[in-house]
Amino acid sequence: MACLILKPDREKSLLRQHPWLFAGAIERFEGRARPGDTVDILACDGRWLARGAYSPESQIRVRAWTFDEHEPVDHAFFKRRIAASLARRQALPELVGQQGLRLIHAESDGLPGVVADRYGDTVVLQLTSVGADKWRAAIAEYLHQATGCARVYERSDAGVRAMEGLPAATGWLHGAAPGSLDAPLVIEEYGVRMQVDIFAGHKTGFYLDQRDNRRRLAQLARDRRVLNCFCYSGGFSLQALAGGAREVVSIDSSAPALAMFEHNLALNPQLPHERSASREADVFTALRELHQAGERFDLVVLDPPKFAPSAKHAERAARAYKDINLAALRLLSPGGLLMTYSCSGGIGLELFQSIVAGAARDAGRSARIVERLFGAADHPVDLTFPEGEYLKGLLVLVD
Ligand code: SAH
Repeated sequence: MACLILKPDREKSLLRQHPWLFAGAIERFEGRARPGDTVDILACDGRWLARGAYSPESQIRVRAWTFDEHEPVDHAFFKRRIAASLARRQALPELVGQQGLRLIHAESDGLPGVVADRYGDTVVLQLTSVGADKWRAAIAEYLHQATGCARVYERSDAGVRAMEGLPAATGWLHGAAPGSLDAPLVIEEYGVRMQVDIFAGHKTGFYLDQRDNRRRLAQLARDRRVLNCFCYSGGFSLQALAGGAREVVSIDSSAPALAMFEHNLALNPQLPHERSASREADVFTALRELHQAGERFDLVVLDPPKFAPSAKHAERAARAYKDINLAALRLLSPGGLLMTYSCSGGIGLELFQSIVAGAARDAGRSARIVERLFGAADHPVDLTFPEGEYLKGLLVLVD
C-alpha cells in the first residue's frame, strides 16, 4: 500500500482523529496510488497515524477511513460502518419509525463523502469524494441489505464533486425501473405528508435536518400570523398550519419549489388551506416591501440557503444574514418570535449570534435568545469533527 509521510509537527489533528489531511501537511509520497485508493499516513518519524482515501485533486488530500492500524478497508469495513450508522439511529427513540431519515451522515458516521437518506422504502445515496465513489457498489449493496429497502437511487450531483475531479452520477443502483418510480414518493413527518422529489429536489430531495425545528414551529405557531421565508416545499409552513397558526405567508424565489408546496398542501386536506398564502419573490425585496406596506407578523422563519459555503465567503455572507434578519425583526409585532437559521459551515454559532445581535440593534428592537436550535439527531456531530455542525439557529423573542 502506498503511504504519505507528513512534515514535522503536522500529525496533531490526525492524532485527535480529525479525518481530514490537507495537502500542505504532506512531506512526501511513497509508492503509487490512483484517485480513491486507500493509503497509509505516517508521521515524519514513521509512526502510523491513519488510513484513508487519496484525493489527488482536492486540497483535502486524504479523508481518513480508520485510525486503527489493524483495520483493513475492504468490503467488511463498509458493512461494519453502515451497520454502526444504522444502530446509532436505533438508539434514539425519536428517530425510530421516521419515514424520512438520514442513515449516514458522512464524516460524522465515520464514512467521509457518504450521505444516505431513507424516504420510505427508497434509499438515496450521495457520494461526494473520490474515495467514497470507488466503493459505490459495496455501499449500495450493504445499504440495500441492511435496511431491507426496495430501492437505492444515487444522487451524486452535488457541486463539491468537481473539487474531487468527479463528474455527476445519478441513477438507480438497486430496484425500480430505470429512471422512474411508479408514484411520487411521499413521507409523513410529525403528522404532515410531504412529497420528496429524489430526482430533482434539493440535496437528496428534502431538508431532513430541519425535521425537529419544523415540529418546534408547530408548537409555537398557535394563533400567530407566520411569515416563512425561503419556504422550499413548505415544510415549516405545513407545520405552522398544523400548529394552529392564524395565517401563514410563504415566500420562495423558485417556482418549482412553490409548486411542490402547493402539491404538499393538497396531500394534507386536514390542514386549513384558506389560512395559507404563498408568493414567488426574492426574500430580500419582499421583506422590504412588506415593511413599506406596514405589514406585521407574530413569527418569522428565516431558513436561507448556504450563503457561506466556507470561511472565505464569511464576510459577504454576514452582510446577507444581517440584511434579512434586520428586515425580519422590523416586521415583528411586540412579543413576536424570530426563528432564524444559518446552514453555512463558514459561519459559526458565535458569529451568527453576533450578526443577529447587530441586526436587532440596527432595527432598534430589544430582543433575547430564548432557544438555540440545531440539526436533528440523525445529523450527528462527531466530537472529533466540529465542522459537522453546519446548521445553527436561534429563537429570538422581541419586546
Ligand atoms: N426551509 C426549507 C428549506 C429551505 S432551502 C425546508 O424546511 O424544507 C432554501 C430555499 O431558499 C430554496 O427553496 C431556494 O429556492 C430559496 N431561495 C434562495 N435564494 C432565495 C431568495 N433570494 N429569495 C427567495 N428564496 C430564495
